[in-house]
Amino acid sequence: MGKILDDAVDSGGIDVIIQNERDKTAPRCPHGPALLFEKTGHGEEKGRRFYACSACRDRKDCNLFQWADEKISEARMLAREEQNRSKMPLFSHQEYSSRFRAFVSLPLEQRRFCVDCQLLILPEERANHAKHKALSEDTTVQRLKRPSLLLCPLDNKKSNAQYLFADRSCHFLLDMLLGLGFQNILCVGTPRLHEVIKLRNMEGKSPKMKSLLLDIDYRYCQFYGQDEFCRYNMFNHHFFDDEEAVTFFQGFLREEGGAKVVMITDPPFGGLVKPLANSFSQMAITWKNLNKVSDAGQMPMIWIFPYFFESRILECFPSFSMLDYQVDYDNHPLYKHGKTGRKQSPVRLFTNLSPKDIILPEDEGYRFCSVCERYVSAGNKHCPKCDTCPSKDGREWRHCDECGRCVKPSWRHCSSCGHCALPDHPCGQSQTGCFNCGSQKHKLRACPKKHNKRMIVPGGRGAPGLLKHIAGKSTTRNKRRRRVT
Ligand code: SAH
Ligand code: ZN
Ligand code: ZN
Ligand code: ZN
Ligand code: ZN
Repeated sequence: MGKILDDAVDSGGIDVIIQNERDKTAPRCPHGPALLFEKTGHGEEKGRRFYACSACRDRKDCNLFQWADEKISEARMLAREEQNRSKMPLFSHQEYSSRFRAFVSLPLEQRRFCVDCQLLILPEERANHAKHKALSEDTTVQRLKRPSLLLCPLDNKKSNAQYLFADRSCHFLLDMLLGLGFQNILCVGTPRLHEVIKLRNMEGKSPKMKSLLLDIDYRYCQFYGQDEFCRYNMFNHHFFDDEEAVTFFQGFLREEGGAKVVMITDPPFGGLVKPLANSFSQMAITWKNLNKVSDAGQMPMIWIFPYFFESRILECFPSFSMLDYQVDYDNHPLYKHGKTGRKQSPVRLFTNLSPKDIILPEDEGYRFCSVCERYVSAGNKHCPKCDTCPSKDGREWRHCDECGRCVKPSWRHCSSCGHCALPDHPCGQSQTGCFNCGSQKHKLRACPKKHNKRMIVPGGRGAPGLLKHIAGKSTTRNKRRRRVT
């Protein structure tokens, strides 16, 4: 089943069903309530619905699968509950915190970090890890402040790969946010950023910021207390420690009337956009309700994701725009700043902050386009015909009069396809069927599913204070720019 499910999701034959109310009948796996999917397939009959794990796309990692109309036997239910229990972290968050306090009170020579178990171990536990690879020299106080260097990045390709921001990108993001007056940073799946915020506070060189980390990686419970880290699943908006964690989360959103809160997230790139957008909308609604923000107010958000997801993200969040800033990573084989010079990263910021307020570093070649009113890459030249700075990938794009739009520099106009494409494209084979749903019966233009079910964070203009940075409803310019994609 796993393989089938995966191929179907990849080919767009399966849709995630986002429900308005919390689905109490959803089965649970170790990652919280499952998501509801629907096979769309060919033909017009209603597809069959099923539940599957929200967090793991590979069924080898989590095999929960259940037809929505399937009756589950008592025995299978019990077995599932047993399995869920067995996949829980070894300790509760509170236990992890008291272990940490015990650990730091030990003299340096007694501290051990077990690499195999990714665990700080106490002297009485050492025998259990005798055969494991232990790392001892590296547990100085200084080192414990950088857990992202101590823990090895998760590298599950499909769902859980951890790509850590390069310092450059961390400091750019934090200086930019401080410049806009934000001081409470909700870090969703950004452990490195959370860590750098704490380090900067200790160095005392820049104004203090507060940070709350939400991430599914429970190894961070070892280093951060419950007021700094909540184990959270961003695909189903699930807090693992239930009410307790929710209390800390809400407390954070409520500080200073929520005025200085910004959410910043860097989800795994294999993740499905719709459930992510739904979780972020839930956060925004909570922020709004807790702080009695007027209808027009939007929680400021930055969603870091590759540029080729632009249309899917904007479909969920029409007031967002994509910025040209290229996010760099330390451990990403492709997207890091190599010795041989800068490799282009495809990762961008998507935000409801207004692009003109986000000043991109001039020394990296970004410049302000006064027509578009935003900062753009060095190579992104304004096209008067398209009335936009069209480049998505940072290279200089070229206007094609026949297509009536700007295209990648490597593309050539193909008269048999009727549009621009790579010179060695499979000619004549492209563009059959619909780009959006895969149906062979219509083209994208006529797709009945194209505009339904938008998730809109209620929003617009006129909110107080910091909210002035929030972009208004999408302007004509925005709409036009989007069509260019
Ligand atoms: N660039 C970021 C790390 C991004 S990697 C930084 O440097 O801080 C993606 C992060 O999302 C990882 O920390 C991973 O643990 C987390 N993650 C993966 N799946 C998740 C899920 N379902 N819910 C919450 N966090 C998740
Ligand atoms: Zn699961
Ligand atoms: Zn053009
Ligand atoms: Zn063309
Ligand atoms: Zn062609």
